[in-house]
Amino acid sequence: MRTIFSEEHEQFREQVRRFCEKEVVPHIRQWERDGVTPKSFWRMAGGNGILCTTIPEQYGGPGGDFLHACVVTEELARIGLSTGIPVHSDMVSPYLLHYGSEELKQRFLPRLCRGEIIGSIGMTEPGTGSDLKNIKTTAVRDGDEWVINGQKTWITNGINCGVVLLACKTDPAAGARGVSLIAVEADAPGFTKSARPLEKIGLHAQDTAELFFDNVRVPASNLLGEQNKGFIYLMEQLPQERLVIALRSAMVLETQLEASVRYTGERKVFGNSILSFQNSKFKLAEAKAYCGMLRVYIDDLVRQHVQQRISVEQAACAKLVATELMGKYLDELLQLHGGYGYSAEYGIGRAWVDARVARIAGGASEVLKDIISRQWHGLL
Ligand SMILES: Cc1cc2nc3c(=O)[nH]c(=O)nc-3n(C[C@H](O)[C@H](O)[C@H](O)COP(=O)(O)OP(=O)(O)OC[C@H]3O[C@@H](n4cnc5c(N)ncnc54)[C@H](O)[C@@H]3O)c2cc1C
Repeated sequence: MRTIFSEEHEQFREQVRRFCEKEVVPHIRQWERDGVTPKSFWRMAGGNGILCTTIPEQYGGPGGDFLHACVVTEELARIGLSTGIPVHSDMVSPYLLHYGSEELKQRFLPRLCRGEIIGSIGMTEPGTGSDLKNIKTTAVRDGDEWVINGQKTWITNGINCGVVLLACKTDPAAGARGVSLIAVEADAPGFTKSARPLEKIGLHAQDTAELFFDNVRVPASNLLGEQNKGFIYLMEQLPQERLVIALRSAMVLETQLEASVRYTGERKVFGNSILSFQNSKFKLAEAKAYCGMLRVYIDDLVRQHVQQRISVEQAACAKLVATELMGKYLDELLQLHGGYGYSAEYGIGRAWVDARVARIAGGASEVLKDIISRQWHGLL
């Protein structure tokens, strides 16, 4: 029994689940073949109140809370859809809401909520990912405009995006204190995208692209918040983003565990079900025990986060534990499926390969361990 969601959240869950079963599940395999989720899906998701759930009604959003966002995350995880909705709804729109001027909010949020435009966040570059303060993309002020030059890679929703929130150096000599966030619209002259989504080993329905900026001019008012405060804004939002990844990981693992119990109970080997072997029962029992522990832990952090935002360290612990456990146990569940586990037709194989990136993006496990260990720096 989970206690963090109210009856109203559970009703919303039913609504999201119905939407997923009807409008998403029948198309996932095609979207995976296409390497992108079509824009028509985004508009439909917006029309059904599934995008940008935490954005207030005055900006065209459903006016929900963080738990509504959690519901969407979990239901998408349950069906194994790998869209960039978390980036669009849980990163781009909150950045605009928290740091954007009233004009930027009015300009972008209603269209993001309706799914008319899709949002991306551009931090990573070919030369730097984990070490964000070393980005090379620059934004130089020229009168009433910013002039942007540089390149970004691995950008989720990159092909489809109508607006990207770009991490740029506005004071290249100042390291982390010289980073700003600037909104760049896709039709800005000089802004181009890679011709096709990057070819990835998983997350095939999620478009991931390279973005290029060649003397791109945007109004000075496209700056989010204050100049050179971008790194601080990114750090402020990271705990929630990492908690969402942890939540998704817990749901993926739970879903695949249930499916694996069913599969091993049905499939006969040497005249008996796979589940009848002691090894299978022990593997499944162990996964169930750890899933239960993970669920209680993550739900408690979600509850704390709703009351008072969790710390950077708490979020690092949550993402580390959830993504590492997911990786370990999905691998063991796949093993119990034999050759069918390696088939793209079965959810476990796709979940296994999709899960791998969770230990890299949003803070690699090693970076998270470094964050957690910082509290002991005084003892060194
Ligand atoms: C599918 C996908 C989607 C993505 N979407 C986006 C997006 O929308 N926007 C965006 O900006 N980026 C995105 N990224 C990029 C992602 O955030 C980076 O890949 C991630 O930050 C790691 O950076 P990197 O790939 O440059 O690896 P590197 O920084 O080169 O790190 C490589 C490895 O070095 C080790 N390492 C790094 N730092 C340390 C340390 N301090 N201590 C010990 N070991 C360390 C770790 O093992 C790490 O995995 C995405 C990536 C993928 C794969």
